[in-house]
Amino acid sequence: MEKEKIEKLIFQLLKEVGENPTRDGLKETPQRVAKVFDEIFMGLKKPKFADFKTFKTKTNGELIVVSKIPFYSICEHHLLPFFGDVVVGYIPAQNQTLGLSKFLRLVDYWSRRPFIQEELTEIICQELTENIPNSGVGVLIEARHLCMEMRGVRSSNALTKTECFSGELKTNRERRVEFFERVKEGL
Ligand code: ZN
Repeated sequence: MEKEKIEKLIFQLLKEVGENPTRDGLKETPQRVAKVFDEIFMGLKKPKFADFKTFKTKTNGELIVVSKIPFYSICEHHLLPFFGDVVVGYIPAQNQTLGLSKFLRLVDYWSRRPFIQEELTEIICQELTENIPNSGVGVLIEARHLCMEMRGVRSSNALTKTECFSGELKTNRERRVEFFERVKEGL
């Protein structure tokens, strides 16, 4: 991302929406926005998150649930933030589990780009399913969308919920119920 190009575009954008980008309060805004973009779209530039190093445990087949993983992303339709919590659950296999911080970093990596909530949910589920030994993965996201709250019907505080399952959590109803019960306890 070329910082100067972005600065110029933001300057132009401010002009087009009817502002005066040279007035005092806005003078440094293009630089600030370029910096912010660099941070919130970081996932587009970084190499794909691949740090799925697991460690050996005695646990096998017992559901592990990690809740309240915060995320901030940008809705690809309106370029406004959507944000909330991710819950990840999985059934470990081969006595291998993933360190908790890896979940946070995986979610952070995929959030930092223009995205839609459904696809963010799916990609997190897919990445975990493919990269750690498991017999099932479940991902839930609850999010607020500023494009819903600031415009249109202004449905403030509405939560959009999405979910994605793989393996046993997809095919075995009992295990999925177990997952939702654990989520309910944790939230
Ligand atoms: Zn939107």
